[in-house]
Amino acid sequence: MLRTDVTVIGAGPAGLFAAFYVGMRDLTVRILDPLPEPGGQLMALYPEKYIYDIAGFPKILAKDLVNNLVEQLEPFKPVYTLGERAEKLEEVDGDFHITTSSGNTYVTGAVIIAAGVGAFEPRKVGCAGEAEFTGRGVYYAVKSKAEFAGKRVLIVGGGDSAADWTLGLKDIADVTLIHRREQFRAHAATVNQMIAAAEADEVRILTPYELKEVRGDERVREVVIFNNATKEETVMGVDAVVILAGYLSKLGPLATWGLEMEGNKKIKVLDGTMRTSRPGIFACGDVASYAGKLPLICLGFGEASIAANYAAAYAHPELKVNPGHSSERDESPTPAPAH
Ligand SMILES: Cc1cc2nc3c(=O)[nH]c(=O)nc-3n(C[C@H](O)[C@H](O)[C@H](O)COP(=O)(O)OP(=O)(O)OC[C@H]3O[C@@H](n4cnc5c(N)ncnc54)[C@H](O)[C@@H]3O)c2cc1C
Repeated sequence: MLRTDVTVIGAGPAGLFAAFYVGMRDLTVRILDPLPEPGGQLMALYPEKYIYDIAGFPKILAKDLVNNLVEQLEPFKPVYTLGERAEKLEEVDGDFHITTSSGNTYVTGAVIIAAGVGAFEPRKVGCAGEAEFTGRGVYYAVKSKAEFAGKRVLIVGGGDSAADWTLGLKDIADVTLIHRREQFRAHAATVNQMIAAAEADEVRILTPYELKEVRGDERVREVVIFNNATKEETVMGVDAVVILAGYLSKLGPLATWGLEMEGNKKIKVLDGTMRTSRPGIFACGDVASYAGKLPLICLGFGEASIAANYAAAYAHPELKVNPGHSSERDESPTPAPAH
């Protein structure tokens, strides 16, 4: 089995940038993630939203930022192990052995945990037909706006994603939003825009309404919704149901790796080197906790570069921690040999 110098757990922005920096040190790197594609929260939850606080980019779509990170990392030929969740960690002869949900074991000299908010899954409504039609008209994210063009779309939820996509789809689709409460959790400005759109007949907003059933044949054809105050039921013809009711996340197995934790979702880093309480294991991005921490992508990038350089020096003690300036390198970095 191919051993890599460093293994990064989590292919979100922090993990991708950490892997890039490991590559810059001419070391080999594996990236593990249970999701089918890299990008973490950005691809899973908001690929088509603009991000405005990435240094050097006045604005950038979340999916474009991920594509750029993947492209920046590509010259180093990282080993992507997608669709597998890191579950078990053992130390054997100075190496770490990581066993995944698929039963595979990967060997590595140092570990960087960039697991974000943990392996996450969208919160389900739990109504009849929801599971049956998932992938056949029931969605938990808008990955491509084009997919909804010209369709009758029911959006379920009252937070930022539900409000953003009610506005985001209104110009290309026939949108109805239902929310189980009268009050929305989304930003006030977005809620006001949404209400204005409803007053202009550009979207329909129904509160306090809930989803009772999804029906169809090969695909979703209609839903039953109900007013939870009056219990009155309505049958509506729809082509797509987009459930944006937040997501559940848990660190799961990583929380049992004997690392010092902050609550049950964050891993404590002991100092500015991003080391955790277990030598050879570093953390960065949303999962890493320290005094003054802010869960922002821009900070995750900084933490990733620190974690990667210390992890590189841990895996190869002959390396200096300080990488020097990238501008002094050749223009096209060459991949490190696999060993
Ligand atoms: C709607 C929305 C809008 C946002 N807008 C902004 C913004 O404008 N600016 C900003 O700075 N931030 C924003 N954020 C926050 C930002 O997305 C996060 O700070 C960022 O994604 C954290 O990156 P990360 O790499 O640490 O973790 P994540 O993006 O969460 O990625 C972690 C990855 O680790 C994987 N993982 C978890 N457990 C395991 C395991 N056991 N084994 C293997 N892999 C595992 C997960 O599957 C995931 O892919 C927003 C978040 C949301 C939800």
